[in-house]
Amino acid sequence: MNNLISKAPSIIKKNLFVTRRVPTEAYTILSKYFNVDIYEEDRTISTETLLDRSKGCEAIMTLSLDVLNKETILDPRFGQIKMISNYGVGLDKLDLVTATKQNILITNTPGVLTSATADLTFSLILALSKRVVESNKLMRKHSIYDQDQFDPQLESLECQSLEKKTLGLIGFGRIGFSVAKRAVSFGMDIIYHARNERKEQAKVVNATYCKTLDQLLINSDFVSIICPGTPQTKDMIGRNEFKLMKKTACLINTARGSIVNEEELISALQSDEIRAAAIDVYTKEPFVPHALRKLQNVILTPHIGSATRQARNDMGILAAQNLIDFFIKRKCPKHAVNKEVFNKI
Ligand code: NAP
Repeated sequence: MNNLISKAPSIIKKNLFVTRRVPTEAYTILSKYFNVDIYEEDRTISTETLLDRSKGCEAIMTLSLDVLNKETILDPRFGQIKMISNYGVGLDKLDLVTATKQNILITNTPGVLTSATADLTFSLILALSKRVVESNKLMRKHSIYDQDQFDPQLESLECQSLEKKTLGLIGFGRIGFSVAKRAVSFGMDIIYHARNERKEQAKVVNATYCKTLDQLLINSDFVSIICPGTPQTKDMIGRNEFKLMKKTACLINTARGSIVNEEELISALQSDEIRAAAIDVYTKEPFVPHALRKLQNVILTPHIGSATRQARNDMGILAAQNLIDFFIKRKCPKHAVNKEVFNKI
């Protein structure tokens, strides 16, 4: 970071709007190079406020949850924006096609949140297998340890060992592969599904490629979704897919809410079509359906894949670096996802 600050040349600063408070280090870097306006509230910004505050700015730094659809991008108040620097890796709420047509460069922050998200995913796999959340709840029930015999509910808490169980990964990119590395040390068998086979990575963790999703679902004890939210992956897991899964299987979604049909998930959990689920992401975040919250066989976390101080700090610095590359160094940021825009400018 010191490097980024000390080399700041005397420049006419561009206006940058940031839609959420960022870690101090990132803010310090950004304010050296930009006139920074930060949305001060700790919640997702409304579209109207985002547009009002973007007016007169050449850059905006967003969170993956901010909706940047066609209407927003084409709104006159967004007219001067030349770059959207996303603080996160998922770009599912951003209309990349419209942004590209408008010659707006888009960047994200891959890599620096990989371990944090893989840690969350694996902690959920462990929590499901050893039934940590249900056990914790039972322990707090007044009567259990006041009596001289165990609560019968405790007896029915049958746990599983991960050894020799099959982990099915839907998505085998940075995070999926990282989850697989963790699973290896627990003695799990790994299978994965993606559009492309990844032979090199698969060799490292002895993973087997499933060309079809069905093949993966039929054979997995734990199905972990870690692919992007795209039109192709929308409702990828629905009624038919739950029917294919083992009755003893667990589903873990730390990718995007749109990938799992939430109503069908609730129904599958209610009817014990699968044993349990652990969910970090939701269809209409931050809204979480009451029916899902009522269920005992699901663990719910509030989209905390990247929520470590280190990951958030590194994401902020990388998002700032992307902006500096473009506006100050006049080079195409490494993490531009529509590089063709840079070549046109
Ligand atoms: P990545 O390195 O780009 O990997 C994505 C994987 O998904 C690849 O294996 C890709 O393989 C596969 N994939 C893409 N489209 C697919 C499709 N239609 N069907 C099956 N597989 C498909 O991305 P990453 O860094 O691992 O991140 C994955 C996702 O995690 C992100 O997009 C983000 O939404 C989510 N995420 C969530 C959190 C959180 O807080 N919960 C934090 C970080 C990231 P092919 O291209 O060969 O299909």
